[in-house]
Amino acid sequence: MSFGSLGLCDELLKAVAEQGYTKPSPIQVDAIPVVLSQCDVMAVAHTGTGKTAGFTLPMVQLLSGGPIPKAQCIRALVITPTRELAAQVADSVQNYSRHMNIRSAAVFGGVRIEPQIAQLQGGLDVLVATPGRLIDLYNQQAINFDQLEILVLDEADRMLDLGFIDDILRIQMLLPIKRQTLMFSATFSKEIKSLAKGMLNHPVLIEVTAANSIVETITQKLYPVVKEYKGDLLTYLIKKNTWRQVLVFSRTKQGADSLVVLLKNAGISADSIHANRTQHARTLALDGFKNGTIVALVATDIASRGIDINQLPCVVNFDLPYVAEDYVHRIGRTGRVGTSGLAVSLFSEDESKQLQSIERVIGHKLEREIIPGFAPSEKLLATSPYDDDEYGNFEADSKPGRRGRGGSSSNRKRKN
Ligand code: AMP
Repeated sequence: MSFGSLGLCDELLKAVAEQGYTKPSPIQVDAIPVVLSQCDVMAVAHTGTGKTAGFTLPMVQLLSGGPIPKAQCIRALVITPTRELAAQVADSVQNYSRHMNIRSAAVFGGVRIEPQIAQLQGGLDVLVATPGRLIDLYNQQAINFDQLEILVLDEADRMLDLGFIDDILRIQMLLPIKRQTLMFSATFSKEIKSLAKGMLNHPVLIEVTAANSIVETITQKLYPVVKEYKGDLLTYLIKKNTWRQVLVFSRTKQGADSLVVLLKNAGISADSIHANRTQHARTLALDGFKNGTIVALVATDIASRGIDINQLPCVVNFDLPYVAEDYVHRIGRTGRVGTSGLAVSLFSEDESKQLQSIERVIGHKLEREIIPGFAPSEKLLATSPYDDDEYGNFEADSKPGRRGRGGSSSNRKRKN
């Protein structure tokens, strides 16, 4: 299957070729023709599947050659849960529409509203927005939805997680009833189904499962480790494997900050992105990570959501996520369309429950690897949280010589 056979115009085919994409991903094959036929779409796909191009390319094509947006009017609205994702989607829109006459912009909180009001003044074909700032702009009468033709809800599941449901419903009330609506979500939960029911009109359901998109291209490893040694183990892994770019997930903002200090003390350039940091600090951190001046970017789930870094080689779960589906989202940052990636999880004794549900969700046991000096107690090593009956106990899978390492770990000096 080629991009050419999906019904895209020459300007878009040229832009896609310039991006270096040789063939469409499964979600693009499914979604592009359906969106072009102006049907509503409910797509179950997460970041890393190529979903952004899946809706952006046909959306831009539908908009091209249409009416010029009047002052403050927008013709397509893409709502995203986070600022970073809004900026990235807007970049994609700009990239893909570079050979067309499409005006687009992103608006989100944490930065001054006045330039955004000024941008809207001239009218836009595509606006990418986070819910809060969009409502602020509406309340300030800076935006008009009369000309709206297309609404896209990106990462709808995350919008619900973040408590944006009321904002979304409020925005929906402001939009023309006659419009095309596309909803993207990583999960198809009861809540998403009910949101879809209220917002979509006879949608075509498109599903790209984790199994055929992400997980196959990613090598996943699990390092059982004494909790207090996690920071040292991460330092060790980064240095030993000479990782140049690693996205590290921390469960808490405070945890992210202390980890950055620990890594810096060990001579590894590191920075963090989380909700307590200013938008400016987050952008600087992300830029540094993208241009290679920062080796380790430590992020919380919310802040990291949707971060798009091409061919990210390595993702580390410093803490296992509470919600098993977040594991799939997290490792989706690596092994993007057509590239391979490494996802490493540091697993301490108190995380058995999380590991159990992750292994249920991904449907298999994660490959354990023991690092001498960091190993946990025999008790943890013997734990096979996924399913003892099916997989046998952990002892049978592990490497020879492991037993001695529990002892050596207790001799290690802890860093403060
Ligand atoms: P997304 O799932 O939209 O976040 O896209 C994930 C990554 O895949 C982005 O870096 C895109 O630039 C890239 N991508 C999207 N479509 C393709 C494609 N057909 N071939 C190769 N890479 C792609």
